[in-house]
Amino acid sequence: MIIKVLTPLLFSSLILANMPEWVDSEVEQINQEIIALRHYFHQNPELGNQETNTQAKIIEILKDSGIEVQTNWKNAPTAVIGILNPQKGDTIALRSDMDALPIKENTNLDYASKKEGLYRNQKTFISHMCGHDAHMAMLLGAAKIMAKHKDKINHRVIFIFQPAEEGDSLYDPFKTENLPSSGAKALVEDGIMEKYQIKHVFGIHVMANLKAGEILIRKGVALNSSDGFKAEIIGKQSHGAMPQNGVDAILTAANAITSMQQIISRNIDLTKGMGVITVGKFTGGEAPNVMSGYAEFFGTIRSNHPDIRETLLKRIPEVITYTANAAGAKAKVKIIHVYPVTYNDPKLASWAVKSLKSWNLNASISDWNPGASEDFSFYAQKVPSVFMFLGIDNPNQKDIANNHSDKFIIDDSALSTGIKMHLNMILSQ
Ligand SMILES: [Zn+2]
Ligand SMILES: [Zn+2]
Repeated sequence: MIIKVLTPLLFSSLILANMPEWVDSEVEQINQEIIALRHYFHQNPELGNQETNTQAKIIEILKDSGIEVQTNWKNAPTAVIGILNPQKGDTIALRSDMDALPIKENTNLDYASKKEGLYRNQKTFISHMCGHDAHMAMLLGAAKIMAKHKDKINHRVIFIFQPAEEGDSLYDPFKTENLPSSGAKALVEDGIMEKYQIKHVFGIHVMANLKAGEILIRKGVALNSSDGFKAEIIGKQSHGAMPQNGVDAILTAANAITSMQQIISRNIDLTKGMGVITVGKFTGGEAPNVMSGYAEFFGTIRSNHPDIRETLLKRIPEVITYTANAAGAKAKVKIIHVYPVTYNDPKLASWAVKSLKSWNLNASISDWNPGASEDFSFYAQKVPSVFMFLGIDNPNQKDIANNHSDKFIIDDSALSTGIKMHLNMILSQ
């Protein structure tokens, strides 16, 4: 008796979690068009905060699909926000970035980028070597399908196409006072979350070294924070044989660099996570027999915990300044705040994996933190959100090149999975 009662209930709950029967055919129908669209974006890359042609293309596609479009964001003029079901509440946002990198593409693809542009006033080759071309194409594919079936969608859906995930490409951060924000930060500052009362944001990043169609999702920290700094040490130049008459800027800078590593070993709570300080550039001095009066160094700061990040950002200027002062020198330190830790809401991450699996997608919870950073973190600071990794490796390809490499290649077979991931995040809630 009991079995007879329970079986239909169990069966019906499985049916509810299943993929609507029209999803496969809709994705199949649109697949070649989305691949072609990805190749179009790939051949027409634009750098952060210069994405005007990309913006026009996205607007055209969204409008053609009958999706309301909002532009003219104060801090993100090249952003495009699509709004589906504007009259409905319970808003969920799906996010794609739009910008390319100042890298000369070195693949043999027939749609390889040959474009040039200006990166901080210098002419450079540009290419989509982080895969944001795929992000745009996949989200546009999902948007087109959702627009066609909008009556079956219970939510207001916000499609975020944001500029400058890789940072602003117009200004040098160390030479500019009011540096334009990255796209996510700019939109958050412009009040996008409050304007649409966004409940969750979901984002996908295509990843090399993961096979095409495989999905990995982290619970908690998904990616690290990233910040930068420049330090100037102002001493007093002197004859190299008469050090008592000057203040040695190179020796002072060297001491400061060594002392900074003790911030990691003595100031941060290493039970919470990790931190990295790397000085990657150091210049100073004029001649071997002249004691230098000026030195400067640049570095990067990474962490996987917000508390550790905070300690590093506070202690680095202190240690440099006090070390300089102890030597009789002065220090000027400029910190560039780049991106916070990207944090996936653990419950929502678990739900996302279960939900994707119920559509027969190859998703799993992962402990893989690729070590990079993302401005998706700004949305995730506001509302529970999930940032997902989608594999793009062709199984027959050897010597896989990482994202940001000049040989980075996306296997187009992954795109249909990306479209389904976006659809799943909306249709399963
Ligand atoms: Zn990137
Ligand atoms: Zn990226």
